Amino acid sequence: MSDLIACPCCGFPTLRTLGAYETCKLCDWQDDGEGGGPVPLATARRNFQTHGSIHGAPGAGPARRDYAREELVDYALAVRRGGTRFDPAQFRRLLDAA
Ligand SMILES: [Zn+2]
Repeated sequence: MSDLIACPCCGFPTLRTLGAYETCKLCDWQDDGEGGGPVPLATARRNFQTHGSIHGAPGAGPARRDYAREELVDYALAVRRGGTRFDPAQFRRLLDAA
């Protein structure tokens, strides 16, 4: 059911088009198609794995960190860490709410 494309950084289906400077609602990665943003892709991936954002510190960066967003990040990190099975429908619900 996923009409969305996997984000090059967090790997979750969050982008409508690749290389269109779209910002991932989950990890804040801006997809310029080259990985040449302010945070190098490898660092961004590591940061996401650690605390759910591409930025160096938890809560840093311009993205809003409201409840819906936190729920989305918590779910993604649970999946990434192997504690939760990925459910595309549930992920999409959380993504749309964030
Ligand atoms: Zn992402």
